[in-house]
Amino acid sequence: MEINQDKPSKGAEQILLAQIKQEFTAPADAIEQYIDLVSQYIEENNIAVEDEIEQIKTGQQKLLSQYEEAFRENTKSDSKKNKTAQEYSELRHNLRTPLNAIIGYSEILMEDFEDDLSESCINDLNNILIHSRDTEKAIEKFVDFIKGDLKSEPSDNSGQSNVKNAESLFKSLGDLDYSLEIDDNLKDADILIVDDNVTNCEVLQRRLSQHGLQCRVVYDGTNALKEVERKTPDLILLDVILPDINGLELLKEFRSKHTDDELPIIMVSAFNDVDSTAKCIKLGATDYLPKPLNGTILMAKAVASLEAKYFREANRKLLEELHIRATTCPLTGIFNRKVVFDHGEKSFSESMSGKGKDFSLLSIDIDFFKKVNDTFGHPGGDEVIIALAKLLEEKGKPNVVGRVGGEEFMAIIVHDESQSIEEFCASLREDVNKLEIPFQDTIININISGGVASSSTTDSWEDMVNLADERLYKSKENGRDQITYD
Ligand code: GH3
Ligand code: MG
Ligand code: MG
Repeated sequence: MEINQDKPSKGAEQILLAQIKQEFTAPADAIEQYIDLVSQYIEENNIAVEDEIEQIKTGQQKLLSQYEEAFRENTKSDSKKNKTAQEYSELRHNLRTPLNAIIGYSEILMEDFEDDLSESCINDLNNILIHSRDTEKAIEKFVDFIKGDLKSEPSDNSGQSNVKNAESLFKSLGDLDYSLEIDDNLKDADILIVDDNVTNCEVLQRRLSQHGLQCRVVYDGTNALKEVERKTPDLILLDVILPDINGLELLKEFRSKHTDDELPIIMVSAFNDVDSTAKCIKLGATDYLPKPLNGTILMAKAVASLEAKYFREANRKLLEELHIRATTCPLTGIFNRKVVFDHGEKSFSESMSGKGKDFSLLSIDIDFFKKVNDTFGHPGGDEVIIALAKLLEEKGKPNVVGRVGGEEFMAIIVHDESQSIEEFCASLREDVNKLEIPFQDTIININISGGVASSSTTDSWEDMVNLADERLYKSKENGRDQITYD
């Protein structure tokens, strides 16, 4: 196949255009972020430099709008290709003019107010200067491009170009309101920032930490996977374009292991068109933040995700707690009467329909338990109940065992070949007899009486319960410390 080297294809031309724009928008966006940080600092510390800040902000707005207009006008298919040298020079000059205000007033602030500004604010101003120089270079490149002095070249190894949408240049959201209230419960939240752009990470981290939120930062997908593996964060802010693994692939990977409820993920990207947003949401993103980031929206979305997660977890714990309370006995922690009866009823109908095995119901009562209470007091009696519950539960596994009354227990023992119900009960009784229950400086010993009924010889679960109880009382009548089967 023959490739025309001289005339770039339409696709290559598009990529080049996107690159040229990206080279301008990246530093211009960074300038905007740093201006926000500086102006916030100045406001908070009541430093009388409103005029200077206003000039810088106006310069920034002009910088963006003029470039946007020039880009639009000069990259249209029908735009006039051949301008005079004078016209190119004017264009370059006009585009660079707003930078003069940005650079100039930033330098003034640094020089004249050095003593009033914190080290980090001076750093932010320095960053404005550094990114202004990069913006200047990007303007040169743009003018060279429309002059036709710039040829298409491959973007990078991954073949991805950091394409930015035209809309990303506009920031129409007015003044930022930082008066966000963050619940103390969220202060321990662990946020993972994944972005290959160091400035973006720094700005994100600064914004979040200003509100007392903790962040971890990684600059590529491989490390993002490692960090999440190490400890699942409470929220991920995930850039779509990363040097190694694409953000959408990462999103898919995280979603294969964690639900949205467990791990909220907010995608951060300059692809702020409907398609990309929809794709992210479809792949399981919790939310989407367009670049350039607006501090207020960032905080609102991050806090909303963290709050939702916090309340979901609090709710889940509450439901778990309620479930435990509804199914167990608070003294011993083993199942309560309701669980045993529900399980018994279900097991009975399953064994009747052939879906489940035959089983036995063992009803147990501690012998002369009143005497235990009389001798050792209620706390001594409680220790006995706890110790017997533990033994029954251990021994009965995997069968269902529960405390159905004061010192009364029931076990639903499914028949199996390895041990008959008689063998099971004999062994249990022996263990109970041997049980030494320490209480204060003494040891308490107990006996139990029991009654057994089998599902194969009864007509209903209720019959089984009645029969097992009748047999338990037979054991009592016959002298206790025994189990009756018929
Ligand atoms: P029997 O051998 O006939 O079963 O005699 P008993 O003394 O065990 O008599 P009974 O079963 O009627 O007595 C149950 C006693 O258990 C009465 C009650 O005060 C006591 N009890 C019930 N629940 C608890 C509890 O949670 N803790 C303590 N310490 N005692 C309890
Ligand atoms: Mg008793
Ligand atoms: Mg009793």
